[in-house]
Parts: sequence; structure tokens; C-alpha cells
Amino acid sequence: MADTSAGLRDLMARWATTVPRKRECLPSLHPQTVLSLPIDIAWLSDEWITALIDLLGSSPAPKAFMLGGRPATPEGMAIMLANLRRLADDIPQVALFRTDLAGLDLIAHGGLAAAIGTSSALRQVIPPSQNPATRETPAEEPGPAPNLLVRDLVTYLPGSVLADRFGDTRGPLCRCLHCGQRWLTSFLSRGDWRDARLHGVAILMEWLPGLTAGTSRAHRMAAWTRLCLRGIDGHDAYNRMTGDPVDRFTPGLPLTFWAGDTSGLHARTG
Ligand SMILES: [Zn+2]
Repeated sequence: MADTSAGLRDLMARWATTVPRKRECLPSLHPQTVLSLPIDIAWLSDEWITALIDLLGSSPAPKAFMLGGRPATPEGMAIMLANLRRLADDIPQVALFRTDLAGLDLIAHGGLAAAIGTSSALRQVIPPSQNPATRETPAEEPGPAPNLLVRDLVTYLPGSVLADRFGDTRGPLCRCLHCGQRWLTSFLSRGDWRDARLHGVAILMEWLPGLTAGTSRAHRMAAWTRLCLRGIDGHDAYNRMTGDPVDRFTPGLPLTFWAGDTSGLHARTG
């Protein structure tokens, strides 16, 4: 799981012991209040998820989670993704803000809302450091090329990665509402950041009607699963386009998990 320091574990343990007292306070919140909850992903470990649900499950107020940190292992990632679904199952009116496509998974599983960041920096929160001098200020993007939402892959990838893999060929053409007609391999510099964000919004707007049209949670889950399966197929299609036997497009663990492959949970205990 996450690389949680002993100090953080102590803090979480002390907070967990106050759950009964805090639980009595939460229902008195105004029902239109939104609890803003930037939390470390350690709270989504099997060790702490029950305490989190116990703390917030009885409050009728909407809760907006923002997650800080990344799981250290694939097993930790799978557990985090599974426990995000538990939040949607066990806590009323739960939302995920400053997130990536995990927000769509939460909505499909009954979540109230999601706010998907338009840049890499807005798809995460940075955990505070005890030493202000070492506090990170995330760049809008990790490099000159923006991370781009690739419709065919249901994944964010840097534009430079797409350009490298497609080499001398133009690669896939985007015909989204913003791009009109633009090669996805052409998002390479800071000057492309704005267009990359608007392209991402256009793709999400294309997806949303299909993902939210279902009259039941089962319909929404099925629509989301189908989209993720198409994304996995898209990786095969892109590999056929590049023909490169080595530098291949490989679906990430979140996408395979959302598409139904929960084998990453096999190492789970308890
Ligand atoms: Zn586009």
C-alpha cells in the first residue's frame, strides 16, 4: 500500500478513536453543506477503509473526496480502486474531486458527482509536507507535452509518447468538437496545453450522455464497463497501427480493473 509514515499512522489511529464522537456531530450539518475532504490514499487501504466509512457513513451531507498520494504497488492500486467503489456503496452522497477517470468509475457505481481535472496538476492533490521548504508545487503538466485524454484508449497519455510511438506516421486523427480534425501526435509543447484541455473536455462530453443515460446503476455500470473494454481493444488497434513489437501500448491497471479484471486483488488479505 501507500508508503505511510509512522507519524501518519499514529495520527490516523488517534483520529479513528474519535469516530464515535465525530459521528454524532456530522448529521447536524446542513444538508446543503459539502464536506471537502482532501485525504491521503492510505485511508483507502483495507486497514483504514472501515474507519473512514464508519466516520462518514451516517452523515447526510454530500462529501467530496480529493486523494493525495499514489499506491506503491499494483496490489495497492487495485485495493484502492476497489475501496473507492466501497465508498460509493457505503457512504451516501459521495463525490470525487480533483481526479482522473476514476471519477467516472465512482459515478457508475452510484457516486454523486465527480470533478475531473483539466490538467495533470488538477487531477491530484499533493500531500502536505512537514517541512515547508520541501513542499512540492505541482507543475501543470509533467513535461512540455500535455497529458492528453486519448478517446480510443480511455487513458491519459503525454502527446510526446504518442508522437514517439507513431514515429514518422501521423497516427490517429481526432475529430472531437474542439479539434475538428487534428492529429493526436501534434500535442507536443506548452503552446498545446490549452487545446489539450479543451480536447479533453470535448471527449468527456462525448462520453457522458452514454454513461449517464441508464435508468439504473446496473445500466450505468454496464455502459462504463463497455467503454473501458473498448479502451483495452484500442490498445491492440494502436499496436497494429504502429507495428512496433517492442514499444507497445499496454492498458494500465486502472483501465483493466474498471473493465472487470480484478485479479490484482488476489494478494488481498482478510
Ligand atoms: Zn480532440
